Amino acid sequence: MAAKKPILNGTDLIHSDDHVHHGLEVAPSISVTTTFKNPEPWNEEIGLSNLDAWNPDRHVYSRYTQASSTRAEKVLSKVNDGYALTYASGLAASYAALVHTKPKRVAITGGYHGCHLTIEVYKRAKNAELEVIDLEDEFKPGDLCWLETPLNPTGEARDIKYYADKVHAAGGTLLVDSTFAPPPLQYPFKWGADIVMHSGTKYFGGHSDLLCGVLIVKTVEEWKELWSQRTFLGNMMGSLESWLLLRSLRTLHLRVPRQSENATALAQWLSHASGGRAYDGIPAGIVDTVWHSSLQGKNAKGWEPSAQMEGGWNPTFAILLTKKEYATLLPHATKYFIPATSLGGVESLIEQRVASDSGADPRLIRLSIGVEDVEDLKEDLRRAFQEVAKARAKL
Ligand SMILES: *Cc1c(COP(=O)(O)O)cnc(C)c1O
Repeated sequence: MAAKKPILNGTDLIHSDDHVHHGLEVAPSISVTTTFKNPEPWNEEIGLSNLDAWNPDRHVYSRYTQASSTRAEKVLSKVNDGYALTYASGLAASYAALVHTKPKRVAITGGYHGCHLTIEVYKRAKNAELEVIDLEDEFKPGDLCWLETPLNPTGEARDIKYYADKVHAAGGTLLVDSTFAPPPLQYPFKWGADIVMHSGTKYFGGHSDLLCGVLIVKTVEEWKELWSQRTFLGNMMGSLESWLLLRSLRTLHLRVPRQSENATALAQWLSHASGGRAYDGIPAGIVDTVWHSSLQGKNAKGWEPSAQMEGGWNPTFAILLTKKEYATLLPHATKYFIPATSLGGVESLIEQRVASDSGADPRLIRLSIGVEDVEDLKEDLRRAFQEVAKARAKL
């Protein structure tokens, strides 16, 4: 893969909101106010008509705009090269994307099960007029292609440009759920995405302490439409969460590349033990398969993911163990990896995926890699595999 360029700029992360910051404080203030004093009538016309939500010079009510979410959105817009709006959660952003695009049909295959259920809820609201098709089906005008890449839970990547060309040729729209590959790993607009979605709960938040969703669009006009719809859906992120998000975004360029490097090293290391081989302290007969974008190679159409994943491979991936009993025990045999769902935080997490997705193979383990020392993480897994192998006799 090509040499890494500093495509995610730390200066942007620290200073893109300078112009919307009017106080003397260095760190952003925590404000939980829902409402703001009206201007004096002799200074400004009464009413909301002159309120510019994209560049507010004052705030009115926190369902419209407030200081820390405006600042976080400026930073997200800059580093995603578009116009970003925040929501209460990734799924709130997914619902907002459906309301905004009004698709005739949605093409979606695999990926995070929650998004499928959001589409079901939307369908219910539309009295089941919406048809859900497969990504490989033929597209028609008005289709929304919902492309998650890299995919939850395996962390394998899909060809964004292929689906962009396919849906655009049919007169439809491409949304990319890029949660698994935030900047600087992947920039879906470069490959033809019309809307980019993120669960900001994961890497943008990065500390397992806030829920957030993000939609990024290409024009300020479209952003204003989304903002207006968000105002009346009422699905904005809370004020405290937006403060936490702004705090986290300052270090995105330090966290994500480190998580990506750690994950790539671990996936490569684990892959030597796939097919049940013994390797470097990993006992024989435990690891069946390792999935990761760095391991997937070319697909049937000759495409491979390195160009689209220009800033490094995704920090979350999955392994398949040979027995479901091993997968049940492994998350509780580690010392640093915490047995929990979710991903993207600075601490590494390990999960038997069936614990939170009933459709998952019970042998599947999802690993979200944090910013710890990679040799410590290796040693943690090595010991845990050995412990699980010792328990083999009792299974
Ligand atoms: C977590 C996740 C979501 C949902 O985000 P929430 O913030 O939990 O609502 C959507 N897509 C993907 C790929 C995710 O991992």
